[in-house]
Amino acid sequence: MACPIALVTRLPPEEENAWTDALNAALPGETVTVIRSMTPEERERCEIAIVANPDPADIALLPNCRWIQSVWAGVERLVAELADRPVPIVRLVDPALADKMAEAVLAWTLYLFRDMPAYARQQRAHLWKQQPYRRAEETTVALLGLGALGQAAALRLGEAGFRVAGWSRRPKSIDGVACHAGEDGLKTVLAGADILVCLLPLTEGTRGLLDAAQFGQMRKGASLVNFARGPIVATGDLIAALDSGHLDHAVLDVFDTEPLPADSLLWDHPSVTVLPHISAPTDKRSAARIVAENIAAYRVDGTIPPAVDIARGY
Ligand code: NAP
Repeated sequence: MACPIALVTRLPPEEENAWTDALNAALPGETVTVIRSMTPEERERCEIAIVANPDPADIALLPNCRWIQSVWAGVERLVAELADRPVPIVRLVDPALADKMAEAVLAWTLYLFRDMPAYARQQRAHLWKQQPYRRAEETTVALLGLGALGQAAALRLGEAGFRVAGWSRRPKSIDGVACHAGEDGLKTVLAGADILVCLLPLTEGTRGLLDAAQFGQMRKGASLVNFARGPIVATGDLIAALDSGHLDHAVLDVFDTEPLPADSLLWDHPSVTVLPHISAPTDKRSAARIVAENIAAYRVDGTIPPAVDIARGY
């Protein structure tokens, strides 16, 4: 009989139960068991851990674990907490998630492009004023990050008629996207963006990346969308850039602390839209299907899916 698979989370019980059910439904012939319910013998035999915000001490209870499958796309916390373990960490790469993120990027791009923040302000002031119309094909949306999510968003924006630029660590060539890499590439992308969308992972290379210096390189009146991780943006510098009128608006789905503390200046800032980390929610059923495919391949010949590069941080 195949060794049992451990589910290791620090989620509330109802969330953890929902994951157990979704994973067992997607994995007939396997048994996914919450680590707390496993016998010492089962923990000893366990080769695969499926994790969602796991306690590193729980992972240490699985001495023969060969790989860790996360059910989330972002892995900065796993990398920080499990870096000293020689066990490959596999993150969730789910086309359904990328599709939802692409939808969110398009939705909030249209919100900014069609001046909805300005019209909301005008309505509150009982002001009847038509903003000048811009054309999508004359509007550049720049994506920081051209990975699974950035590429799906680029495609959707291109289909909607926007000019699309993108920035990644390594040079890329993507049809319909002006691709840039490296420090000079970042300058070019920032200088050309009407709307800047952040879809980078949080790593030592991206923490605090978007600060006063980078905002200063952007066009006056440009806007920012951060759907990646809060600490990539220096919040104080962003507020200063909005207050001075250099940047027009920021749509933020992610924050240094989540939930966003009640006393955060961002809540009431007239040029900020606060979203409660909803741009691309994980779909348990489709995530469980992806995890099941990875586990099936491993059972055939021991293939472990491509793992996170710990040194790179993503
Ligand atoms: P991914 O496939 O790993 O892609 C990351 C992209 O960022 C790659 O293009 C990579 O460049 C680029 N990159 C990384 N470090 C860089 C650096 N220092 N300079 C320039 N480019 C850099 O990740 P993904 O699946 O697209 O996800 C991106 C992030 O979205 C996740 O890490 C997570 O934090 C966030 N996320 C948010 C939500 C939400 O609901 N708000 C949901 C899911 C994910 P290369 O192509 O050269 O490697």
